[in-house]
Amino acid sequence: MISIKKVKQLNSEELRMYITEALIHPDMLVAAGIIILFLLLLYISVKYLYQKPSAPEDTSKELLEKVLDRSNESALALSASYQVVYLNTPMIKLLGLTPNDASRQISQSIRIKVKKRWLELDELIESEMAAFGLNQYDQGRTQLKIQGKNTLPVTMHIIKNIHVDDEWKYIVTFQDFRYEEECRALAHRHNVTKLPNQNQALEDLNLLFAKTHLIKGKIVLIAVEIDNFLKLRSLFGYKQSTKIIIKLANYLVSRSEKYAFSVYHMYSNDFLLVMTDVEDTQTALDFVAELQTELMKFYKMQDVRMYLTASVGLSIYPDSGNTRNLLDNAYKALSEAKSHGHGQVHLFMPEEARFVFDELTLYNEMHLALENNEFELYYQPIVDAKSREVISAEALIRWIHPVHGMIPPDAFIPIMEKTGFIIEVGKYILKEVLKQHKRWELFKFKQIPVSINASMIEIECGNFFEEVEKKLEENRVDPGLITFEVTEGKAMESEKSTLNVFRKLQKLGVRIALDDFGTGYTSFSYLKKFPADILKIDRLFMEHILVKSEDQRIVQGMIELAHNLEMKVVVEGVENQQLADLMASYGCDYLQGYYFSKPLPSFEFQKLLR
Ligand code: C2E
Ligand code: CA
Ligand code: CA
Repeated sequence: MISIKKVKQLNSEELRMYITEALIHPDMLVAAGIIILFLLLLYISVKYLYQKPSAPEDTSKELLEKVLDRSNESALALSASYQVVYLNTPMIKLLGLTPNDASRQISQSIRIKVKKRWLELDELIESEMAAFGLNQYDQGRTQLKIQGKNTLPVTMHIIKNIHVDDEWKYIVTFQDFRYEEECRALAHRHNVTKLPNQNQALEDLNLLFAKTHLIKGKIVLIAVEIDNFLKLRSLFGYKQSTKIIIKLANYLVSRSEKYAFSVYHMYSNDFLLVMTDVEDTQTALDFVAELQTELMKFYKMQDVRMYLTASVGLSIYPDSGNTRNLLDNAYKALSEAKSHGHGQVHLFMPEEARFVFDELTLYNEMHLALENNEFELYYQPIVDAKSREVISAEALIRWIHPVHGMIPPDAFIPIMEKTGFIIEVGKYILKEVLKQHKRWELFKFKQIPVSINASMIEIECGNFFEEVEKKLEENRVDPGLITFEVTEGKAMESEKSTLNVFRKLQKLGVRIALDDFGTGYTSFSYLKKFPADILKIDRLFMEHILVKSEDQRIVQGMIELAHNLEMKVVVEGVENQQLADLMASYGCDYLQGYYFSKPLPSFEFQKLLR
């Protein structure tokens, strides 16, 4: 034997020799045998000491039960033969059992929906888990059903091969989604009528549109809105007006089967009907007609019959365009219907899509356009009917768009009027006309009055007169060189204060022309009160006047009427010599139209003034 110290001093070759020698030395072999025996005894006694006295399965089972009982998740344990051996408290609640019910037999009464099949737990474990050799199994949102009870929305998780107790083989847990589903349902129902609301409509339509390729027929969306609802509400109060809504909802639902549509209650007085796979769109129109007549005899309150009307907007796939904008288009159609009064129906057609798109872009761009000087005034001559000399001009705005080129005023003036931007633009136009007058004065052109088209919105805005007076003064332009044209229909609606604006302008020397005359319904007595200097007969009359004696009589009458009221008359839309001569023979004072000249840019127009 050598000491440890010595062993440490040996080099590797010597060490190898020493071990070989030692292993085959008889004394060493005896010593090694004793050591191994000792270790074996130690191992057996330790194993015996630590395994035997405390039953470990029981402890961990109790522990696990405690943990599961405290969990919010519903859990149960199954034996190898699929008997329920444990249910935690949430599971007893979830399954709607009393602790006594919670017998071992219930595993057969629990069914889970997996891929459209209702499976018992054992079937599920054998078909799904065994087939794929899984130790864990997850089932996303599905339904749980216990015999004789309602189905419940749940997700499920199964763990296999549990070695907790001889009995526990599987743990099955469920997560309950009833609360979420209730919240979701609330968010998808209208609180008054409990009908599916706009959230549901959006989801359903997305689903529907995703499979349009499977639908042979058309899709029709019908947006229905009770007219004047706010007024109704203020007249009859919240309770009664809500009754009307509920009654309409019930009526729509009652017709939904016959006409095969789904009803959505979108906003307070607004419903959406969705028809899918429609063969003949006439069905939709038939229903709309029925709805309108039904509404007429709809509501009786304290023996007073109320005549309700609804505005209706329709959009049809594929006729009105693709599904992407189908819903928006139904509402655009509704808005269009509403703009024509009560009880109107409007069907969205694709040309409107382009127009509406343009309207929005134009609106977005017009502010910058004003800053960038993209607006330009064109001038159209107005000639004396007898001498055919240019006696005045009408300023007509053009938008020279950097991308779209020249945009005619009819495309953007209505948007400017709707948004009030016309006030800003109106000031710009007046400024430009005054500048033009100064230039013509400076370069010794003939000074003629210029007519400016003014929207009623500008005139009603409050300080129109003061603005005009100030600008005329600042630029030192004779007020007699300015005429404001206002369209007949709109001018006739004006209030006393607006009429005063016209009168003050006239006092200043500015002239007022009543534009597009003959298109409205002005009575003679009203015309008498309206302070106009000039009457402009609409160009509509020029279209058929050469062949239509009725139009001839009307125009003659209008000229006579104007003259009786000491107004001068301009006829618009004179496109040929025959018309010009006929109008002159009627005693018309001035003529305007393409026969003389189209509207021209100022540098072109001023050549006419030389
Ligand atoms: P309006 O005031 O009735 O203007 C006359 C319109 O008739 C002009 O169209 C003119 O180009 C067109 N016209 C003139 N002679 C003939 C003709 O012989 N035959 C035919 N078929 N048409 C003729 P424009 O320039 O497109 O203007 C359309 C409307 O836009 C104007 O109708 C006016 O209501 C509005 N508008 C134009 N400029 C302005 C403006 O500066 N301010 C405001 N508020 N409105 C404007
Ligand atoms: Ca005009
Ligand atoms: Ca006109």
